[in-house]
Order: sequence, then C-alpha cells, then structure tokens
Amino acid sequence: MSPLTLEELRPDTDHERVVFCRDPEAGYRAVIALHSTLAGPAVGGTRLWSYPSEADAVTDALRLSQGMTYKNALAGLPLGGGKAVILAGGTDREAMLRAHGRAIERLGGSFMTAEDVGTSPEDMAIVRRETRYVAGLPDGSGGSGDPSPRTAHGVVRAMRAAALHRWGSDDLAGRTVTIQGCGHVGYHLAVELSAMGVWLRVTDVDHERIYRVTTTTGAEGIPPEKIFSAKADLFAPCALGGVLNAETIPRLKVKIVAGAANNQLREPADGERLHARKILYAPDYVANAGGVIGGTPELLGWSDEEVPPRIEGIYDTLLAVLRLAKAEGVSPHAAADRLAEERLAKLSHDRSPKEFSE
Ligand code: NAD
Repeated sequence: MSPLTLEELRPDTDHERVVFCRDPEAGYRAVIALHSTLAGPAVGGTRLWSYPSEADAVTDALRLSQGMTYKNALAGLPLGGGKAVILAGGTDREAMLRAHGRAIERLGGSFMTAEDVGTSPEDMAIVRRETRYVAGLPDGSGGSGDPSPRTAHGVVRAMRAAALHRWGSDDLAGRTVTIQGCGHVGYHLAVELSAMGVWLRVTDVDHERIYRVTTTTGAEGIPPEKIFSAKADLFAPCALGGVLNAETIPRLKVKIVAGAANNQLREPADGERLHARKILYAPDYVANAGGVIGGTPELLGWSDEEVPPRIEGIYDTLLAVLRLAKAEGVSPHAAADRLAEERLAKLSHDRSPKEFSE
C-alpha cells in the first residue's frame, strides 16, 4: 500500500495534499484530502458512503475538507481541515478499517480522523489499533463518544444568535422550527428545542426515526418532500448536503436557516439566493462546530471544562459573522468565508520567515 500524492491531477484545488490510498488485500481504497495544516493537524471525519461515482466522492472529500479548515478557523481551534472518504469497502470491515488506520499512520500526524456518515465510534476503535491519530472513540474507552448532542447544542446557540439578529430577541419559545433529518443530531436538536417550548415539524426518509422524535417531543411528522415548503420560523437541515439550491430556495417559507448538515449550499450562488430572499442563513460550518469542539480533549488534550464555554461561543461567532455581513452588505456565507480567510491569512503571515514579513 503506498499513498500517492495527486496534487498534479487536481491543479484546480488549493488543497495542500490529496492522497489516494489502497490496500487490495483488505479491499480498501480511499481518498484523504488535506486542505490545510496551517493552524494545526488537518482534522476531519472518515466517511463511508455510496456515491454515484468516484469523482463525486473525491469532490466531496475536497469540499468537506475545505469546510473543516474554515470551521476550525472560525471556532478558534488550532486545527486544520481534512476529510477521508473510503471509496471501496471489502467484505471484511475490520480489515478495511485497519488498512485505513495504517494509511493515516503513514501521514505521520498531519491528518487526524473521527467517525462520520457511515462510520461509528466502534469503527474508530478498530482504526485506533493501527494509528494514534484518531478521535471519536466510544465513551468509556477514553473517547468523547457520540458528538451529536454537542453539535445539536451548538446549532441551538446558532439559532438563538440568528433570532437575536433577525427579531431582536433570542428567545425561541413559541417559534416553529422544521427539521430535515431525525438522525443523531436531528433527534437531539428536537429534544432540546422542544424543552425550550419550540413547536416542531420534522421529517426523515426513515419513518421509525420520525416516530422516535414525534413520540419523544410531540413534534408533527411531515413527509420528506414537504419539508422545503413547510411554514415555520426556522429551518434546520440535519440530513445531507446540497439541500439549499436553485430548486428548493424559492419554496422556503422560513425566515432563518440554521442546521447541522455540512455543505448545505449546493453552490456559493445559493448563499446569494437566500440573501436575495431575505432568509437569514447561519453558515453551516459556524453552526455545526459543536462536534469538533467537543473532540478537543481527545484531539488536543484540552480539559473537558474548556468544551462547554466554547460551544456557547458559537453564539458570539455567528453574531460577529451576521454583523459583518450587515455592515458590508454581503451575504452571511460570504462574510463567514471572509472572516475565516482573514484568520488563515494572519496565521500564514505570522508564520512566514521574518525576512519576508518585514
Ligand atoms: P445521521 O446519519 O445520524 O442522520 C441523518 C438523517 O437524515 C438520517 O436519519 C437519514 O435517514 C436522514 N435523511 C437522509 N436523507 C434524507 C432526506 N432526503 N430527507 C429527510 N431525511 C433524510 O447523521 P447525523 O450525525 O445526525 O448528521 C446529520 C448531518 O449533520 C450530516 O450532514 C453530518 O455531516 C452533519 N454533522 C454532524 C455532526 C455530528 O456531530 N453528528 C457534526 C457536524 C456535522
């Protein structure tokens, strides 16, 4: 197995390094995208998902790893951005995950991973047998366990900041929120919002998951195709990426979008489409940073006490983004990108040799 740097094959990206890894015996092929290690080791989940094509999988790894760089920069974490996508899984899952662990170990700490869509904390415990550079291990085995409750709480903080910016009050009681996706994050988000007196309308492609949320919270369950046109104050995308696009944005009947899904905008123009419709968008990588913040004790050796205030801080980070957007007359996603890029540029400047910076 020999990881191969393929920068020359993707000259259009600004990624530091894109590595294809394979181990034919384990039936393992993966792409690991390191977008940036400027702030620290590139951190990102390992996704195991069936894509329409391998080109789609690589494109997803590239986009998601860039999102991680921006997420960590705005969360103020000394971490860069990366992502791993396993392209082919053999029949022996353990062999495949161990091969993945060896590929990560070979990167010498420039990439650290955790569970993501299609992988679990238990999978990460298998990866751990081959590499130190893995977090998100199960609770009780030195890991931080399921990150979803922390991600959900961060989304609530983002919703409150967006509500303050939009309506002058961050009290969500009596508001209606639609949630797309009743999985790990969607479930915890529904429970927390319902305890705050929020009315909920939720959907999923999996009926049992809708049922679990409706019976726990009293939410109204609606069919998946109705979620975009459902009337509410806020919409929380908590399923897949690309759900905010030219086809769905005109149908939205909400004032704020704030959710956990990564890469909610199909393309940057969708951020402008939301802005033109006066729908306030909480950039996904600001709103969903609670999970990675919760991983800092494992990733960086920080104390557990540092986590809650930093997740609360998503509120102030989003307010700073929204205020910059208003002051500059730009969309929130453009403002968030600008803030993240400024922080990265400052890091780059601070690290450049003195003779160049003077
Ligand atoms: P999950 O797989 O547990 O839940 C996703 C849910 O969405 C599933 O129940 C699935 O059935 C549902 N779904 C899929 N397609 C749908 C559709 N078209 N309509 C309605 N429902 C649909 O995943 P999760 O851990 O809850 O994460 C949700 C999103 O948040 C993902 O995009 C993930 O990348 C992102 N995210 C999660 C975390 C975390 O801590 N888990 C952190 C940051 C970002």
